[in-house]
Amino acid sequence: ERPVPSDIAVSRAQTPKNVKIIARELGISERELELYGAHKAKVNLDLLQRLGHRRDGKYVLVAGITPTPLGEGKSTTTMGLTQALGAHLGKIAFANVRQPSQGPTFGIKGGAAGGGYSQVIPMDEFNMHLTGDIHAITAANNLLAAAIETRMFHESTQKDKALYNRLVPKKNGVREFSPVMFRRLKKLGIDRANPDDLTGEEITKFARLDIDPDTITWRRVLDVNDRHLRQVTIGQAPSEKGHTRITGFDISVASECMAVLALSNDLADMRERLGRMVIGSSRSGDPVTCDDIGAGGALTALMKDAIKPNLMQTLEGTPVFVHAGPFANISIGASSVIADKLALKLAGTEEDEVHEEKAGYVVTEAGFDFTMGGERFFNIKCRSSGLCPDVVVIVATVRALKVHGGGPEVTAGAVLPEAYRTEDVELLRAGCVNLAKHIQNAKYYGVPVVVAINKFVTDTEAEINCIREEAIRAGAEDAVEASHWSDGGLGAVELAKAVIASSQKPKNFRLLYKADLSIVEKMESIAKEMYGAAGIELSELAKSQVETYTRQGFGHLPVCIAKTQYSLSHDQNLKGAPTGFTVPIRDVRLSPGAGYLYAKAADIQTIPGLPTAPGYLNVDVNMETGEIQGLF
Ligand code: ADP
Repeated sequence: ERPVPSDIAVSRAQTPKNVKIIARELGISERELELYGAHKAKVNLDLLQRLGHRRDGKYVLVAGITPTPLGEGKSTTTMGLTQALGAHLGKIAFANVRQPSQGPTFGIKGGAAGGGYSQVIPMDEFNMHLTGDIHAITAANNLLAAAIETRMFHESTQKDKALYNRLVPKKNGVREFSPVMFRRLKKLGIDRANPDDLTGEEITKFARLDIDPDTITWRRVLDVNDRHLRQVTIGQAPSEKGHTRITGFDISVASECMAVLALSNDLADMRERLGRMVIGSSRSGDPVTCDDIGAGGALTALMKDAIKPNLMQTLEGTPVFVHAGPFANISIGASSVIADKLALKLAGTEEDEVHEEKAGYVVTEAGFDFTMGGERFFNIKCRSSGLCPDVVVIVATVRALKVHGGGPEVTAGAVLPEAYRTEDVELLRAGCVNLAKHIQNAKYYGVPVVVAINKFVTDTEAEINCIREEAIRAGAEDAVEASHWSDGGLGAVELAKAVIASSQKPKNFRLLYKADLSIVEKMESIAKEMYGAAGIELSELAKSQVETYTRQGFGHLPVCIAKTQYSLSHDQNLKGAPTGFTVPIRDVRLSPGAGYLYAKAADIQTIPGLPTAPGYLNVDVNMETGEIQGLF
């Protein structure tokens, strides 16, 4: 076997095409392209209108089995499959991936899209800053945080009329409502355009939000794994006159603004979603929104460029959209709806073209395993976008399935135990129950399933055959060995052919639950049908939260359950395909801008920490070439 160099070495060895060439190959005009240097460009959303008449290309979802902490190659397979479709089978093929957070990039190795000979390039630009979308999200999130604090401060020191007069100041002698103020008037049912016409009662209703500080859920964010900010006290300077409050920071990608970016259908939709975000409740128990505070327009302004997908390329020069990256732990862990819609049009067909022949492919990924990431992809992302995948690809590895068969623990950074380096078909076959459950879960949605067996050098033919047999037995259309990590797109040509064939099979698309079920029923259905649980059990806190959100009118939202990715269950020690367990729902939170509730079935950190030897210890800039070194 030819050794595969490090990811950064592979990335550097390939000279990327100018992104203008990638755009030209896709029929994107220069007017529709906003260049950020030679290798990155934003694509204008006008393109959606121009290509709106086209029939969408094929939509492929890559998901995984229950992984080991090493990762089983979902991202690598997303890139390898796209390279096979695009560079070897002559299709237009997009890989749509998340933008990595800088937190993990400088913390524990992670974030990179793909590896070996299946990657996004240039990988240093991909992993750092990109075109500033995450920075824009940080700015938007923290503007709202500042707006909350300042509003409470001013409400506390001013009487209603004075507060109103300052909120709606005179300009050249006249008071005028801004557009965001008209939104609030409309919500309050006050039908007046002249600020001087409001009654005293209306002035109070309009100006006084009366936020209950104990109910504020909006936190500040930063794209750094700075765990010491998990809890902070703000307002300690004397100028804040004792208005201190305990709050904390999350990683930027955990901001609801990021989930909004991922799930918005267009700019107008993003504007509405940002305005709808709830920051807490008033003392009378009503939800207080970003638009109530008057910041929805400004947040949209900060994010108006972030909404445009970023065009990059794979190692083999095929197009990649890098766009949005919601934190998989508490959000959908998938790239944006807008990037998918744009790519599906760019890969789409005109009326006079034979669709099955000419259609291109859009390959995208769902974070974590199928049962978590795929479930959210269908029930949250697809429910919101109206799109439906044509094929689900489930990535499986010999090593992870051996873990599910009862093999010894696999830990990142440690030497892989012997069981994973020598043939053991029996152990592997026992673990295939995990693969089978993910296949069955994917089939629930009525979409063909193809298993990609991500080949490692130690895998034997008997082992590959075993996975193939068990996958077919569980209902997969096909199961194909792929070596794209070591061979690039060429190693995934057979996989790509299987995906093409399956994408032409009929679908019988359905979602798991109807939105109008109760919040508890929705969580129950996810736990029982997908995880294999006997049921769920709500904490007292969760019960009261469910009751509040239902009363406030949010009961119709889908639910994102946050739990470990290392088991089908909530308990990471339960390997294989466990049954009979009860999922504890500890805490339920509201993200109405994103359009879902999320329920924590585990203690989940929303800002990671750094290990003793973080990634940043290796990073430097080469003083001769100016290149970044030491990133993976
Ligand atoms: P996931 O997206 O499932 O978390 P990744 O695609 O990021 O997994 O892969 C995890 C790591 O494993 C990466 O460093 C990648 O380069 C490496 N990797 C993936 N497939 C293989 C393979 N077949 N052989 C060796 N290393 C691999």
